[in-house]
Amino acid sequence: MRRQDNPTHEIPSFARYLNQVFGFRAAAGQLTDARQDPDISPQSVFLAAFYGFVFRLPSFQQLESDLAQPQLQRWVGSERGFGDDVLRYSLCGFDVSGLEQVLVQVNRTLKRGKALDEGRVQGRIVAALDGVEVLSSYSRCCDSCLERRVSCRKGGVKVEQVQYYHRAVGCQIVNSPVKPFLAIEWLQPGEGEETAALRLLNRIGDLYGSRFFDILLLDALYAQAPVLQLAEQIGWDLVISLKQNLPDLYRSAIRLFARREPDSSFTDKHDGKTYEVHLWDTPGLPFSGDDPRPVRVVRSEETLTENHYRQRRLQPETTSHEWLWITTLDSSVFSAKQVRQLGHDRWKLENNGWNDLTQNWAFKHGYLHACRHRPSTRSADGGRQLIPNRGLPAVTLILLLAFTLCAAFTLRHSKLFRRYRLTALTVAHQLRRSLSKLPPTIRAPDSS
Ligand SMILES: [Zn+2]
Repeated sequence: MRRQDNPTHEIPSFARYLNQVFGFRAAAGQLTDARQDPDISPQSVFLAAFYGFVFRLPSFQQLESDLAQPQLQRWVGSERGFGDDVLRYSLCGFDVSGLEQVLVQVNRTLKRGKALDEGRVQGRIVAALDGVEVLSSYSRCCDSCLERRVSCRKGGVKVEQVQYYHRAVGCQIVNSPVKPFLAIEWLQPGEGEETAALRLLNRIGDLYGSRFFDILLLDALYAQAPVLQLAEQIGWDLVISLKQNLPDLYRSAIRLFARREPDSSFTDKHDGKTYEVHLWDTPGLPFSGDDPRPVRVVRSEETLTENHYRQRRLQPETTSHEWLWITTLDSSVFSAKQVRQLGHDRWKLENNGWNDLTQNWAFKHGYLHACRHRPSTRSADGGRQLIPNRGLPAVTLILLLAFTLCAAFTLRHSKLFRRYRLTALTVAHQLRRSLSKLPPTIRAPDSS
């Protein structure tokens, strides 16, 4: 018998964990949508979409076929199966702020349960901000689409076309094994990513209070005076990668460090890679001409040696890298080496956080984008008009909830996951398979 055939995760234990630890079913019962007297409750629609993501189903069509099973119907609290049309009609008018409140409640519970404590840096909880493009299209667009002109070839001729897309900024805890997203903010037509980021940071302060995390890691794009001011006001320390988009600060740091020997040097070995690292650290350079507050700058010069197969022979290859960061962290508490580590953690998020959601969670499927199957209201002139489409933000929040709660279940609760070194995908498949093994009369627990 293969090892993974034996241990298995089942829906009742997953649901019991969610209900006992997070009060999940009761929270789902509070959710609302824009339909009048619906036959299928918003709670059932939410639970169906949630389980669709837990099972890693690629589309609502697949979910519709799973919902033909009486076991799944009972588990989402519905008397009958329902289709893609019900999912779309409900979710396009779903109450997004209610979903966000469920996410906040889940994250607060994780923090209270010390799930964010592991991997703290000098006792501090670390979050990171990053942007992501969720979908793009040349033909389908909606009222909140962003637009750009893209050159492409049509019949051998170069033409410019308008491309429609959506982009969001998300904030995620990155130090602990469970890495929950705290909130997500969508870019509005005509605004820059830094505007959405600032709105997101303000909202996170409102949703979670000031001390939910301590250090925020940011891309160079967000290195702007209003972000520094807001972080100072809320009480977050910052580590921001410094690139040539702040030319004065970048040049003065490079000039200053070129004149002197590194402040420290060390070798860092992990995952078959060897880094020779030289670090420079200065406590105060003016941030910009308009905002000359002094900021600490750390520079890392790294040569990376790793083995690659070339003509079937393993050969060491060396590449050189340079990194700079601005930080508000005090040098008497956080060494330059720790600032470097934090800076690289953000880079890992870029490669792992959104990537995991994209590759394993159907994040970029573009759910309900430009969907016109949605409730309408009476307009001022007495006619009917469709309500604004909230489908994409609603589905994204449900996905982020599934992402967080599956990670909490496997990493915090499941003994099998660690003992048998299962993958997260295996657990998802086991949970889905376990449904068909349940007796058809089993009742989904309401609160147990
Ligand atoms: Zn759109």
